[in-house]
Amino acid sequence: MKKFFKTYFLVELLKGMALTWRVLFTPKVTLRYPEEKTPLSPRFRALHALRRYPNGEERCIGCKLCEAVCPALAITIDVKERDDGTRRTTRYDIDLTKCIFCGFCEEACPVDAIVETPIHEYHGEERGDLFYTKEMLLAIGEKYEPILAKDRETDHIYR
Ligand code: SF4
Ligand code: SF4
Repeated sequence: MKKFFKTYFLVELLKGMALTWRVLFTPKVTLRYPEEKTPLSPRFRALHALRRYPNGEERCIGCKLCEAVCPALAITIDVKERDDGTRRTTRYDIDLTKCIFCGFCEEACPVDAIVETPIHEYHGEERGDLFYTKEMLLAIGEKYEPILAKDRETDHIYR
């Protein structure tokens, strides 16, 4: 009887209409992406970058801590000692098809060299497109350094 009553008087339909009317005039929570974007946390973890010091010197000292800590084995580093006795990488590759964006590499780095940027709008059409070399990572770091420095400054009391 109850089922018949619900079917005959279109109760479910009326409930649906009532819900529609109720939310019709409430503030919208959806955005028109990509024109509109949500704010991102300074800890947002996306595309990687290698940073330089303000004098242009590479931060990375080739300690390989990031390579050792990476659970996905996504980082490959080769290191060479320079004439002045300092160590620098000759190869620094990240395979982003393996990366799980855990942030361990960034956490392990003693000199804030490898970082994850908030840049999440990137893509690859072939597998090789997501294989980032040292030159590519340094170029990303140079391009977004103001954002990277600001995010780390904002978050420094928690680091
Ligand atoms: S974010 Fe995690 S998985 Fe990706 S390269 Fe860094 S340590 Fe490896
Ligand atoms: S990016 Fe940081 S942790 Fe990785 S090798 Fe360079 S200095 Fe060491």
